[in-house]
Amino acid sequence: MTHATPLVLTLVSRSGDAAAIAAAAPGTTGDVADRSGAGWRIAEVGVAGGADLVAWLNAETPAYGADWAITPATNRRKRLLISDMDSTIIGQECLDELADFAGLKAEVSAITERAMRGELDFAGALVQRVAMLKGLNLSALEACHAERVRLNPGARELVATMKAHRARAVLVSGGFGYFTSRVAAMARFDADRANTLMDDGAALTGAVALPILGREAKLTALLEETSALGLTADDALALGDGANDLDMIRAAGLGIAYKAKPIVAAETRARIVHTDLRAALFFQGYAVSEIVGD
Ligand SMILES: [Mg+2]
Repeated sequence: MTHATPLVLTLVSRSGDAAAIAAAAPGTTGDVADRSGAGWRIAEVGVAGGADLVAWLNAETPAYGADWAITPATNRRKRLLISDMDSTIIGQECLDELADFAGLKAEVSAITERAMRGELDFAGALVQRVAMLKGLNLSALEACHAERVRLNPGARELVATMKAHRARAVLVSGGFGYFTSRVAAMARFDADRANTLMDDGAALTGAVALPILGREAKLTALLEETSALGLTADDALALGDGANDLDMIRAAGLGIAYKAKPIVAAETRARIVHTDLRAALFFQGYAVSEIVGD
């Protein structure tokens, strides 16, 4: 490499002084730009972007309730949003909530947690959990969606603002089409990809359709979607919280860990923990005044 790409550090907080953290960060290469407004504290500064900066941010930002991203200073506004659903766009794990209707939430959610941490094979863990739901009446799916599934704060604004700037929005989930189709409609995603729960017309059979959409299929979705738009992975924002999101998050030009498992957060240079999904807009350089659907 003969010429390093200039990097920008973006800090986003609701209460902490983002500009003060930006000014104190190690290896800054210019002046701090304060982009605060409407209850958001937002600051940007050019950085060299070494490992020491990441360690410093990990140590210093929690006390300020600040989320952060280190991104190339160019091509910041992405043309594809590809996002995980469970515990990212919505606050729930649908499979765990569904298991509650079968009286098995504790057993199923313990497996979900291990799978999302990367401790279990994704497909094997999915097959195991779905098998536990055999015989569950289909009315439980409707009740689960209506009573439990809720969009996370900022989800609507993230999708609406990016779409207002010509981006395509795709929901990609290792969960189930019954839920992704409904959540995609709620948050106005353009498309959704997910697994299919098999049923006999009255109840779940305990099987999931093959092939299972897992970690590799999420990366494939990112590559297919960008290719279809005549773009590259560099033009994509990938968002997720679990181990099965890691490959698409690594491949994307902007990969964001949202309230993520440690294995995911450790590999990303953009993290949302304290604020909400609108931080993903500020990481792309959008101004507070540009947010659609607020
Ligand atoms: Mg998830």
